[in-house]
Amino acid sequence: MAKHQFQTEANQILQLMIHSLYSNKEIFLRELISNASDALDKLNMLVLTDPNFKDVKFDPRIDIKRDKDAKTLTVADTGIGMNEVDLMNNLGTIAKSGTKAFLENLTGDQKVDSHLIGQFGVGFYAAFMVADKVEVITKKAGEEQAYKWISDGSGEFEIEPAEKEGHGTEIILYLKEGEEEFLEEHRIESIVKKYSNHIPFPIFMDKEKYIPAKTDDDGKEIEPARTEIENVQINSANALWTLPKSELKDEDYISFYETLAHSNEEPLKWMHHKAEGAIEYTTLFYIPSKAPMDIYRVDYQPGVKLYINRVFITDDDKELMPTYLRFLRGVIDSKDLPLNVSREILQSNPIMAKIRNASVKKVLSELAKMMKKEPEKYDTFYKEFGNVLKEGLYSDFANREKILELLKFHTLNSDEMVTIEEFIKNVDEEKKEIYYLANKGSIDMLKHSPVLEKFKARGIDVLLLNEEVDTIIFPMVTEYKEYKLVPATDAKFDESEDEKKEKEELAKEFEGLAKEFKTFLGEDIKEVEVTTELTDSPVALKVDKDDPSYMMAQMMKQMGQAGDVDEPAPILEINPKHELIKKLKETSDQNLIEDAAHVLFDQAKLFDGRELDDTADFAMRLNRIMTKAL
Ligand code: ADP
Repeated sequence: MAKHQFQTEANQILQLMIHSLYSNKEIFLRELISNASDALDKLNMLVLTDPNFKDVKFDPRIDIKRDKDAKTLTVADTGIGMNEVDLMNNLGTIAKSGTKAFLENLTGDQKVDSHLIGQFGVGFYAAFMVADKVEVITKKAGEEQAYKWISDGSGEFEIEPAEKEGHGTEIILYLKEGEEEFLEEHRIESIVKKYSNHIPFPIFMDKEKYIPAKTDDDGKEIEPARTEIENVQINSANALWTLPKSELKDEDYISFYETLAHSNEEPLKWMHHKAEGAIEYTTLFYIPSKAPMDIYRVDYQPGVKLYINRVFITDDDKELMPTYLRFLRGVIDSKDLPLNVSREILQSNPIMAKIRNASVKKVLSELAKMMKKEPEKYDTFYKEFGNVLKEGLYSDFANREKILELLKFHTLNSDEMVTIEEFIKNVDEEKKEIYYLANKGSIDMLKHSPVLEKFKARGIDVLLLNEEVDTIIFPMVTEYKEYKLVPATDAKFDESEDEKKEKEELAKEFEGLAKEFKTFLGEDIKEVEVTTELTDSPVALKVDKDDPSYMMAQMMKQMGQAGDVDEPAPILEINPKHELIKKLKETSDQNLIEDAAHVLFDQAKLFDGRELDDTADFAMRLNRIMTKAL
């Protein structure tokens, strides 16, 4: 008998299960049945496609056995089974991609954590919520030797050769004191109905059947009433997505979601669609009500399963749906794909591409419907997944317009968030320009940006984009329908002859001060420009036309793309109508002008969401100015 240690992460999960006060312990059965169903799925595919398995009998069933005397509950399947290596790899380690995120998110607060457990989908280890010892007896299809895996969850497990008749796996739970409810017929049956009614394989269990007393014609008892044990199927075992919508109730969809997504939270929405045309396929997609923990990880677990004519093919293909829809959970099933598709073939398969394209369109149009008809639900969706959806703006060019229409924007002039369709109602129909300001920071901070003063003065509205993803994506989005998207900093407004003249005069008048500023600030700025676009602020920063924006330059730096090149120096704009600038022009105190130039430049940087190079220098100069003023 060989003893082995659990991998660290596996042990952490295990300890959590053993000590968890998770109120929803019953889900252990959902997890074990779901593993059994996966094992049947895997064997089904091999038998149909792999010549090595052509003699293996596929007789799919899951059996739940209760033994009240021994206090054991057994879940057995006739699926693929495991050999010694599989047992080592599968039931001693955790390969799941979300594990790290899950463990990092644990707080030690039972309430918070138990919620996370529900989100995570705990798998096999959930057995230890109700059992203090677990035995797994299993034989891999096509192999001779069976094995037994045993653990009491104390950090070690043992594997030894064993006897077992057919292939498949039997999981025996030695129930903890106080968990006897999981031996009750009704309890088990109701859990199975709740979570596993629509897995595609039958689940059997022994049930007591009451046989009434037999009487003769005179009413005399000839056989007393008794109970008989009957082995019966307790789930409906129809692949839910294959049923017509009209036969399905909300509860059916919800419970199927719970099995599929290993979640206890109701989905926000589902979309069930049967396509009948050149290509026949069925899709059932769910939008979860909460983002999965791994949503921003590169190694996220995709949530869409592919079936070919009800035979499970894969649940681990990130290409089935585009990454910006990675929050979807669900099923794609088509008769028209070849069963023996490999992953590479799947990716270049034209039928798959058509199904994918049509599915994306369908999901986007359902989202649009939800936005109009169920605004509150849509807000929940948008809060959880809006930023993920935005990624589609650059990755799915063909659907860019539709995705833009699904976004909600803060704007300079409105308190409520608006859609782009609402926004363009107020856009100048001659210029057809949509202005936006994309910068990290609060919306309030963006609203006070000096860049917006020229818009405020003209009453023109501006989209305010304050998420990090906005600063990366929006520079790439240059149009919507016949409208151009223009960064607020690049906006140009027509000037009357008088205005032009005034500007020229002011530029001349303040030329001296501008030169002094440039001398004191040196290479930190490209040039100083006199502007008439500012109203309230004395200064503002502007990026030269062909230079990348500050955010872009930061990004490139982070990704190591800029090499040793420094970010481009900005242009400092000064407002000749501002008191401060006017007074600076009049003074002959060169030291004061030097300090003011630096302090004003730093101020402009702060408004632009930039960091100061030298905070101590800023404070020192500011203090010197204040001292002079007193
Ligand atoms: P998950 O199912 O999310 O991968 P689990 O911890 O539940 O994680 O299971 C780990 C692995 O153990 C599974 O991926 C599978 O390979 C294997 N396994 C679990 N139960 C069975 C079973 N009944 N038959 C065959 N393999 C199983």
